Amino acid sequence: MQSLWDFPDFDAHEAVQFVTDAESGLKAVIAIHSTALGSAAGGVRFWHYDEPGDAIADALRLSRGMSFKNAMAGLPLGGGKAVILAGPDQEKTPEMLDAYGRAVERLGGAYVTAEDVGMSVADLVAVSKRTRYVAGLPVEAGAVGGDPGPHTSYGVFLGVKAAVRHALGKDSLAGLHIAIQGAGSVAGGLARRAAAEGARISVADIDPARATALAAEVGGRVVDPSQIMTLDADVLSPNALGAILTEESIAALRVPVVAGGANNQLATPAEGERIHARGILYAPDYVINAGGIINVSSEYLADADAAGVQARIEQIPVRLEQIWQESADRGRDPAAIADAMAKRLIGRQ
Ligand code: NAD
Repeated sequence: MQSLWDFPDFDAHEAVQFVTDAESGLKAVIAIHSTALGSAAGGVRFWHYDEPGDAIADALRLSRGMSFKNAMAGLPLGGGKAVILAGPDQEKTPEMLDAYGRAVERLGGAYVTAEDVGMSVADLVAVSKRTRYVAGLPVEAGAVGGDPGPHTSYGVFLGVKAAVRHALGKDSLAGLHIAIQGAGSVAGGLARRAAAEGARISVADIDPARATALAAEVGGRVVDPSQIMTLDADVLSPNALGAILTEESIAALRVPVVAGGANNQLATPAEGERIHARGILYAPDYVINAGGIINVSSEYLADADAAGVQARIEQIPVRLEQIWQESADRGRDPAAIADAMAKRLIGRQ
């Protein structure tokens, strides 16, 4: 029988908590990868898994990702993640959220929960009735906190500019063609800022109304979702789905730069090497898209005002430049360099 320690995604996680609450029917897994830099912070996902083992694997993999992301964002937080195992009917009850909140509270702050797929801000408010260890709650206008999307897109914009400077030697996006996959929160913020600087925008979304509205707003053009990744452009900015960079899609890219906010863009670590071998500059996703978690962290720890949050987000291009520099010096791909840097920061060589 497979034990927890034999899971391929097990990476010396400090603790994995299995939660069962018979009364509410709650089943959850809380994975704490590392608390070397602080409380293990990361969202809770509400999802139906075909096999419970898939839920454990997800919690292990995602919590490790949060350790890397928080460390590279310079935050005093470790990495954790929780998954609530939804039934096939996806029913989520107030009792389940209550029991989940109690489970987080029992960990005494080792894990700080936040929003992720399948969970709403209202769900988190319900969870916060049972635990103090929750971030990403609604805040009053002007206070630090709230929707992370605009902060993520600001960091992505700065990251795109840094990549353009590094790969093309240009200080401005004026006149450059940016192909944006997705027309949601992160993509929208990027498109508006880039267009204001004079970039030409092509945008694709599986929701045509979203793509059309964004293109109209920024004076760009709509592209079919099946064509956005093969456009001849200066930058491809993925801001929709994960695992879009595969052996096949990388071979078909016609851009010198890939820099966007979508999580887990590389289908496997080998794709980091493939994109590098093609001479395309890649901005590691969890580094460039950290603006949202920087804002959430500042809200939770109450350690920065809005100007402080902005200053922290403005470190994202600095971190990216360090990664690309080390990548050039050591002849390794930027994604592998980012992982190695993150491991050093959390004391895992
Ligand atoms: P969103 O839901 O606002 O927008 C995503 C958009 O992508 C939607 O309009 C959707 O229709 C579109 N889409 C889905 N599949 C597509 C496809 N195959 N081709 C083209 N478009 C497609 O989400 P968001 O908050 O803007 O997040 C975008 C990405 O950034 C996600 O991968 C998310 O995990 C990541 N991210 C977001 C944040 C944040 O603060 N919002 C932080 C870190 C990472």
